[in-house]
Amino acid sequence: MSNFAGVGVSPGRVIGPVRHMAEAVGEPPADERNDSPEAASASLAAASKAVQEELKRRAEAATGDARAVLQATSLMAADPMLLKSAKKLIAKGVSAERAVWEAGASVAEMLHNLGGYMAERTADVLDVRSRLVAELRGLPAPGIPSSTTPFVLVAEDLAPADTATLDPAMVLALVTSGGGPQSHTAIIARALGLPAVVAASGVEGIEEDASVFVDGAAGTIALDPGAAEEAAAAEYRAAAEALTVFDGVGITADGHEVPLLANVGGAKDAVTAAEAGAQGVGLLRTEFCFLGRDTEPTAEEQVEAYRGVFDAFPGKKVVVRTLDAGADKPLPFLTDTTEPNPALGVRGYRTDLTSPGVLARQLTAIADAAAQATADVWVMAPMISTAEEAADFAALCATAGLRTPGVMVEVPSAALTAEAILTEVSFASLGTNDLTQYTMAADRQLGSLAALNNSWQPALLRMVRLTVEGSLAEGHAKPVGICGEAAADPALAVVLVGLGVSTLSMTPRALAGVGAVLNSVTRADAERIAGVALAAPTAAEARARTRAELPVLEQLGL
Ligand code: PEP
Ligand code: MG
Repeated sequence: MSNFAGVGVSPGRVIGPVRHMAEAVGEPPADERNDSPEAASASLAAASKAVQEELKRRAEAATGDARAVLQATSLMAADPMLLKSAKKLIAKGVSAERAVWEAGASVAEMLHNLGGYMAERTADVLDVRSRLVAELRGLPAPGIPSSTTPFVLVAEDLAPADTATLDPAMVLALVTSGGGPQSHTAIIARALGLPAVVAASGVEGIEEDASVFVDGAAGTIALDPGAAEEAAAAEYRAAAEALTVFDGVGITADGHEVPLLANVGGAKDAVTAAEAGAQGVGLLRTEFCFLGRDTEPTAEEQVEAYRGVFDAFPGKKVVVRTLDAGADKPLPFLTDTTEPNPALGVRGYRTDLTSPGVLARQLTAIADAAAQATADVWVMAPMISTAEEAADFAALCATAGLRTPGVMVEVPSAALTAEAILTEVSFASLGTNDLTQYTMAADRQLGSLAALNNSWQPALLRMVRLTVEGSLAEGHAKPVGICGEAAADPALAVVLVGLGVSTLSMTPRALAGVGAVLNSVTRADAERIAGVALAAPTAAEARARTRAELPVLEQLGL
């Protein structure tokens, strides 16, 4: 039996056949000609029909967002403007592939220039263009393979756009050769509750349809699974079925309450989170409500988006994060995509320097939405680096009438000066995804740096401890929560509680597992286990020693 090893980012053990994500379609050569314009036109018409039918078939099988995306894309495959301009090029002797490529580029540019909703369709046109070229070349359609039987998806990495067409009922597990623990693949996998291994080099060479055993906790992929793997997968299935419900109170065995909150990107997520028993929202990523927009959302649009979340949690805490644009989450109306180092550039709170007024208007919209709801609304700014920034943000919140201002601690300088920063605001929330990338100077999106970009790193645990110490300084005791992905790892969650954090916010799928493990330890156990993790010299040792202290993880298949 051969094995591949990567970084386990979402637990679970499954067996299934491998399906590879088809490669992106390359640009047809600029001088590619056709032999006969009539034949090339006929091939294009046939390809358009085939792509449209395939997308319609997939739309019918899908639900929710995926269905809407597929329906819109299927219409685009027969778009008269696209086909007409491709045919004009074909008549001039250009090959069908090249003609559709160029026609797609002009339609995309035109939509982009129109701005607003139309500009948001640009990605659909480019997707359809790739599908048409693949069909004309007789290659598999790019993107997630369509299948009527469940499979293990192997890819280099997944982009946020791939999620819309990822059918969790058909995908058993995600395995990528790239990506890190904080990559989109990892975040998507945890949100969908799919076992996942990232940064597993060599997996691109596994044969299509080969049977594999994926262990998302251990981070391994084994070929030719036998009886032992079958038994492990069956045991995991049984444990996972028993762990689907969170009873709605995060509490240690001795009664120390640690509210378990949800990370959400909008009203729909908030409803799912409330159904999953989340005790509130620990992170509303407001930029997710407006991704791809190239104009600032209006006050009405903003109030509606925030109200949708507040109404899902009447009387409960909802922490709204102001727009965190930049780096992996560009918002065309706020960020400059030509910066040489976007992760170190004008992003998060810093966009208030380059686009003054947007933040103040957002705070007003949040206050207006809060005034119409009963949720207990807290507001925090992303990427705060200094006490001055914290003070300025608190002043803006006060002007808008928002009473509970806070900051994200996701830049090392904020952890190191937590006492001064927390003198200015009411609370802090540790964004361990960015705090890990900046502490380790390792891009969170790079699979090759996955080992560095790991929240078990001793340096990251010390950053958490420093922040909590700063929050308990004489004269003030301010709450510090966690809203990075670290909170969704049940073993790490125990360590974080032991280090003194007061709330954990995570993808709703993780609530039941984290809740069960937290409930199996006392506060003193958690403090002792945090000491064990802090004493470890490496990330791997910290994780291994912590897991050895928590046999409940194996019992629950986590
Ligand atoms: C973080 O950095 O940990 C965080 C929660 O913010 P995001 O992942 O949206 O950058
Ligand atoms: Mg962040």
